[in-house]
Order: sequence, then structure tokens, then C-alpha cells
Amino acid sequence: MAGNTAPEPAFFDVAIVGAGMAGASLAFELAPHLRVLLLEQETQAGYHTTGRSAALFSEIYGNAAIRALSRASREFLQSPAAGFCDQPLLTPRGSLFFAAEQQLDRLHALHDEVGPRSPRLQWLAHPALLARLPALRADSVAAGVFEPDACDIDVHALHQGYLRGARRHGAQICCDAMLTAAEQTAGRWSLQTRAGNFSAGLLVNAAGPWADGVAGIAGAAALGLTPLRRTAMVFEDKTEWASEHWPLAVDIDEQFYFKPDASRLLASPADETPSPACDAQADEYDIALLIDRLETTTLLSPRRISGRWAGLRTFAPDRTPVLGFDAARPGLFWLAGQGGYGIQTAPALAQLAASQILRRSIPPAIADQGLDAQTLSPGRFASA
Ligand SMILES: Cc1cc2nc3c(=O)[nH]c(=O)nc-3n(C[C@H](O)[C@H](O)[C@H](O)COP(=O)(O)OP(=O)(O)OC[C@H]3O[C@@H](n4cnc5c(N)ncnc54)[C@H](O)[C@@H]3O)c2cc1C
Repeated sequence: MAGNTAPEPAFFDVAIVGAGMAGASLAFELAPHLRVLLLEQETQAGYHTTGRSAALFSEIYGNAAIRALSRASREFLQSPAAGFCDQPLLTPRGSLFFAAEQQLDRLHALHDEVGPRSPRLQWLAHPALLARLPALRADSVAAGVFEPDACDIDVHALHQGYLRGARRHGAQICCDAMLTAAEQTAGRWSLQTRAGNFSAGLLVNAAGPWADGVAGIAGAAALGLTPLRRTAMVFEDKTEWASEHWPLAVDIDEQFYFKPDASRLLASPADETPSPACDAQADEYDIALLIDRLETTTLLSPRRISGRWAGLRTFAPDRTPVLGFDAARPGLFWLAGQGGYGIQTAPALAQLAASQILRRSIPPAIADQGLDAQTLSPGRFASA
């Protein structure tokens, strides 16, 4: 009978799955050009890894591709467009990699590798290291590499700026809208979500720890992305001499790190425990390990722990993000595997993803850093 047919689902040029930093930043870049739908399974965008980071921007952290993406992101973070947010996104912090005597070869290797691109990098011999960070135990460290230009990132302001900007350009942001089924016919996706059905020309997988699962929903092969749990805590220190001006300090083998966080300290045992995609929780063992490492290598002595949490940093097998069209499933685009760097690299990753989706050439600021599309392409796993 006429009149009983279900209404056609709303059509979007692009449906992005996941409203963490990856999905939000891409929605921001695409919304001025395309009809964009951003789907988030939680009632609140940013609930998972994006809301649980240490909020650091460092150009010497991660592998060569990550460092190039970070350098290419600095301009956006330092000078976002007018109206993007009301406060600075970056605040000077500095980062300090330190080493014990037996780790010095690794510290030298880092210095040699990143030095040429970071002329302001400083090698700190023992006295200079202790002067920079008096919390280190003199007998457990030998030297350090100091990056003066590392910054704290206002993650909330960045994420909200992206979401606000996307919305301003007409993007529809649907929370409580888990994607449960996706079928592609004649170049169009029919999408079922907990918030209703939609139709889209392109499906973007920005689902963080769930990215391999979302690929399965879309009929594509998993890429072997692994969520690794990382724990953090905020604490007050018994010694009460912690300074807001200390840099983020991390040992060269990334066994733990700490940095000031308002009037307290934030620290992590830098754990990487494989985990299923889930609402990750801090494990007491990892907190105990962290306290032990802090007390062994520093003069700090945690008194009151005022917050503890964990999040999932999701890595591809080569620890480089995955960005590009699926090799075998036309209409599916990957923006995943950002690991522990998805905040500081978000601007460059989103600009690069948007350039591919809009069929434009690679943005010069990214090409200038020596990055090419193949390095990040999901097809690199197929050819391997
Ligand atoms: C302790 C810790 C410290 C870190 N420190 C830093 C740092 O200092 N600097 C830095 O740059 N990075 C850091 N990171 C890493 C950074 O937080 C991540 O790389 C980044 O947040 C990843 O963003 P994302 O959008 O890919 O993932 P997420 O924020 O996890 O977003 C993915 C979203 O997809 C949604 N989703 C999944 N499946 C579906 C579905 N079927 N339907 C709808 N929605 C779905 C999820 O609900 C989720 O909100 C840290 C991470 C941790 C845990």
C-alpha cells in the first residue's frame, strides 16, 4: 500500500566512524567541502583514548614518520585559525630524555638522529641535567637530551575546536550512534547505527581501538592493529618541592615518565599491555610499578594519588599510522593506528586524509617534511 514505505535514510558524502581526535579533526577539514556525518558510539565524543592522554607535543618522540607529522602539525597548533578556540593550544613545557650510564648509547643515538632537525636540542651532561631537573637522583642518571620546544597541548580545546568548526560548516555529529552494520551497493553505503540508518558515499574508519572491528563490519580485512593499554596517575608529592617549570621527563628506554600537572604531578609507567578494545581501566600492579620506578630514579615520593586512569594506544605492526583508501574495499578509508601520538599529529593527519579524499595534492607543509602517502597507506601491509 502506498504511504507505508519507510523514508529514505539521509545521505552524506562521508560518514566518519569515531568522534575522538581523529574523526573530529577529519570532520573539521572535510565539512567545508562535503556533507559529513560523524558517528560516535558513546554519549560523549572524546570519551576513550582522546580524553586520556598526557597531552604532550614533542617533535623528537616516536619514529621518523611520527616526527615528520608532528613537525607538520606545529603551525596549526601554534596558530589555529581565528575563531577556532579562545585560548592557546600549546603552552611551553620542554621534554627531557634522561639516561643512566649503561643507557648512554641509546641517548647518543637519539641525539644523533633527531639533532639535525632540531637545532635547539641540548645535550645535558650530569651537572646540567640535575640543574634542569633536581628531582632526579644524582646516582641513577648520567646525561640527558633536552627539547626546549616541547609543549603541553590543551587537548580539550583542540578537540572541541574541531567539533565546533565541523558543526559550523554543517557536519552532523551523532553520539550514542554505534555503527552496527554497513553494506555497500552500487557505490553507496547503507549504514545501521543505534541512532538510526544513514546512507553515505564514503565510509571513514576512525574508530581508534575498534578500527579492525569496524573494518570487519564494512567487509574489509583487519590490518593487525593492536590496542595497548597505558596507565597514568596524578599525585601530590610528599617533598612538596615539585616545580611547575619542570619539563616532562622520560627515561630513554621509556620505562616511565612524569611532568607537572597544575600544582600536582602526572606520571605513567609507560606500560604497553595488549588489550581488547574496551573501556580501559588502570591496573593496581601498573600503579605500584610506577611508584617503584619513581622512587628508584627520582627523589619524588607520591603521597596522595588524586586520579588514575588508563587508555588504549592503538598501533599498526610498524608503529606508523594508517591513512588512506582500503586496498581491496573501495569506499572505505582508514584513519587509525595513531598509537601514542594521535593528539600531536592530528592536524597533519587530518589535512593529509582530507587531501586524499578530496583528490588534491599532498599539502606542501607535509610534503616538505619528507612524508609520502605510501608510508602511511593501508596497502603497505598487503604488499608486505
Ligand atoms: C596514557 C596516554 C597518554 C597519551 N599521551 C599522548 C600525548 O602526550 N600526545 C599525543 O599526541 N598522544 C598521546 N596519547 C595517544 C592519543 O591519546 C591517541 O593517539 C588519540 O587519542 C587517538 O585518537 P582516536 O580518535 O584515534 O581514538 P579514540 O579517541 O579512541 O576515538 C575513537 C572513537 O571511535 C568510537 N567508536 C569505535 N567504534 C565505533 C562504532 N562502531 N561506532 C561508532 N563509534 C565508534 C569510540 O567510541 C571512540 O570514541 C596518549 C594515550 C594514552 C592512553
